[in-house]
Amino acid sequence: MKTYIVGNWKMNLTVGESSIYLQKLLKRIKPAKGLEIAVAPSAIAIQPLRIQLDRLKSKVKLSAQNFYQKDYGAYTGEVSIMQLRGLVDYAIIGHSERRYIFGETNKDLCQKVAAALRNNVTPILCIGETENERSFGETVSVIRDQLHGALSEIDADDVKKVIIAYEPVWAISSNKNARLASPDDVAESVRLIRSELKEIYGKETAEETPILYGGSVNPNNAGAYLTVPGVNGLLIGGSSLISDHFIDIIELAKRVKS
Ligand code: PEP
Repeated sequence: MKTYIVGNWKMNLTVGESSIYLQKLLKRIKPAKGLEIAVAPSAIAIQPLRIQLDRLKSKVKLSAQNFYQKDYGAYTGEVSIMQLRGLVDYAIIGHSERRYIFGETNKDLCQKVAAALRNNVTPILCIGETENERSFGETVSVIRDQLHGALSEIDADDVKKVIIAYEPVWAISSNKNARLASPDDVAESVRLIRSELKEIYGKETAEETPILYGGSVNPNNAGAYLTVPGVNGLLIGGSSLISDHFIDIIELAKRVKS
């Protein structure tokens, strides 16, 4: 299975800054077999970065951070994945900021996963419990609900095309009081996710579905997370905004996974 290193820039960097960042990234990193690198810029930067990547025939991929689940129509201010088709290879779905700031529900996310798949874009489905849910012992049920909710209309063949990102909300660096998840915490949740996938879709699908970890990953701890059994890569927020850190993590992933 490939190793995925995905940078989520969130609502940061202007179009010009995004382009300069990408230029630096492309200069510094060499493609490596089995390593997939993607960045998720703001929606307005996607097309210029697509042109920049195509001009250089780069293998670095682009991801959307979000989209609306209908393909087209009277949805003022929204962008559909059909409109993004051909510009991005991936789309982040259900990031905790979408769930808790913008009120996205499992039903919305289920429609978004289906919309991405019908438009040939790979969904990166984020799941993970909040601090409160964890302290009330609800981690297992939350992960189960989020997984079942977002995948309820997806069959086993299509689930293999979905990437799951386990992102405990309490470990995401932008949260007040964020704390680091231990590799054991991550291993336990990744085991749970695979066992849920196995229960719904069978062993083969459970083994073939990539699972990423995200939550305060930086160049110092990335190696530990990448070596957690069952982790196939990283989804990185804050550290991906510092190009040197993102590049260090990519280099580390090459060494750890080779
Ligand atoms: C994220 O928001 O998806 C994330 C993983 O952020 P950070 O790496 O900053 O914790």
